[in-house]
Amino acid sequence: SKTLRLVLGDQLNSHHSWFKTVDDSVTYVMMEIRTETDYATHHIQKVVGFFSAMQEFAAELQLQKHQVIYMHLNDDNNLQSFEKNIRYLIEKEAFTLFEYQFPDEYRLDEQLKKLSQSLAIATSVCDSEHFMSSRDELGDFFQGKKTFLMESFYHMMRKKHHILMEGDKPLTGKWNYDGENRKKLPKDHKPTSPLVFQNKVTHIVSEIQKTDIQTIGNIDANNFVWPINRKQSLALLDFFVTECLALFGSYQDAMTPNEWSLYHARLSFSMNLKMISPLEVINRAILEWEKNPDTIAYHQLEGFVRQIIGWREYMRGIYWNKMPEYATMNYFNNGNPLPEWFWTGKTKMNCLKDAINQSLNYAYAHHIQRLMVTGNFALLAGIHPDEVDAWYLGIYIDAIEWVEITNTRGMSQFADGGIVGTKPYVSSAAYIDKMSHYCGSCFYKKAVKTGDKACPFNSLYWNFYDKNEDKLGKNPRIGMMYNVWRKMKPEDKVALLEQADYYLKNINNL
Ligand code: FAD
Ligand code: SF4
Repeated sequence: SKTLRLVLGDQLNSHHSWFKTVDDSVTYVMMEIRTETDYATHHIQKVVGFFSAMQEFAAELQLQKHQVIYMHLNDDNNLQSFEKNIRYLIEKEAFTLFEYQFPDEYRLDEQLKKLSQSLAIATSVCDSEHFMSSRDELGDFFQGKKTFLMESFYHMMRKKHHILMEGDKPLTGKWNYDGENRKKLPKDHKPTSPLVFQNKVTHIVSEIQKTDIQTIGNIDANNFVWPINRKQSLALLDFFVTECLALFGSYQDAMTPNEWSLYHARLSFSMNLKMISPLEVINRAILEWEKNPDTIAYHQLEGFVRQIIGWREYMRGIYWNKMPEYATMNYFNNGNPLPEWFWTGKTKMNCLKDAINQSLNYAYAHHIQRLMVTGNFALLAGIHPDEVDAWYLGIYIDAIEWVEITNTRGMSQFADGGIVGTKPYVSSAAYIDKMSHYCGSCFYKKAVKTGDKACPFNSLYWNFYDKNEDKLGKNPRIGMMYNVWRKMKPEDKVALLEQADYYLKNINNL
């Protein structure tokens, strides 16, 4: 018998049981194809990051004497789709069995299921051996419940995996230390310089340039900063736990101009491609905390563990429970196009300029920039969730649909009507100013609501609540805002709505 095994670009898990033994009857196939480069307009660093990591992974397998067929983007025999390439290989090499790992994306799951059913040879599918919960676990856990509370899922995961537990109680007696985090960076605080790699990726960039693949963003092809293999991913993990973890929670929500990573891990790319696993990431963090309990406070560690075994696994569970309907949800019936400057960074709004330019330069923004700057603006401006999704799916190096769409459409845009979040994440300038140093040097004035140089967040904020009162007015978590709005003088309300209207009509000139 002869087996063909497909390894997807986000399945670079060298610890997978597939690779435990070298077997001459098994051939692995990896492919750089147009269906994957073209399903969104990706950041150039995202395409390069995936292809570099795939090439490194294939080389590693070959070094271990596994048989690998690697189809490069411009190879003559590359038919540019999984289906065509697999059919071609099965025929050419007379394979008798086709195997793949469960993909993380609904689109690919459907494609590969259909392909398998239509092949004349035997097929089988197995787990990707990466996540700490199964695809259906969240759905089973919340069965019959109306709301899917992340916190309860997180407690279940802590118990199930015995992470930071004392018997069946949380270590220290308390589950969640979010209240101790979320500080603004002190004005003169210089954050740790991020560890960056200097990967030379000129060969990949020039292959992409030979095609008509559309990309966005910038790249320094001689100094590509992202980890492209397991070794670099582990080095980044090491850097994070030794240099950043001690302040991770404290400054998790902080923002400041020209500092793109602060104390964040930047491990989402390595984890989403499965170069490292969530379990080894948290175990490494826990080990560092055990070694240095005086420098790493428990709340910093708990916050980090929660992001990974809580939020990350939770989002994946929501995705498999709610797809494909999730991708069409639009609770507020928003329909505006994304402002042009989302693609260029050319806006006078300092917070948005910084978050977008950083995204174009690094294919990265940290969580609060994504949620409370770009996402907040998009929701306040009533942008169609399809446009918002397309932007997030393209621009970030870690953007794969299962984790992008649940965060964007769900957490950030509330387009799911409250499956992921209990209320929309929107704010006026006050929150952005509280957490950042953006407002002081902005063209707009943070405290001004209407008239000359009024910060657009202020009027758009009230306009959002006014327009969506039928959907949000009864939400107990936001009742207070509606009380403030109802008590405002009628002429002030009119001025705010007119200001918002003016900004929305001139959105490309903000
Ligand atoms: P850190 O802040 O250091 O956090 C550590 C790890 O926790 C991350 O690597 C990540 O794996 C996990 N994590 C933290 N928050 C979340 C979350 N909300 N959902 C899932 N995992 C989380 N994350 C992606 O991986 N891909 C995306 O496409 C993506 N799109 C997003 C879009 C929006 C609108 C928002 C608000 C968030 C999005 N996130 C996405 C979640 C989060 O912002 C990123 O995981 C994080 O910024 C990655 O950077 P980091 O590794 O430095 O994270
Ligand atoms: Fe952003 Fe408004 Fe602050 Fe300017 S004033 S940085 S637009 S929140």
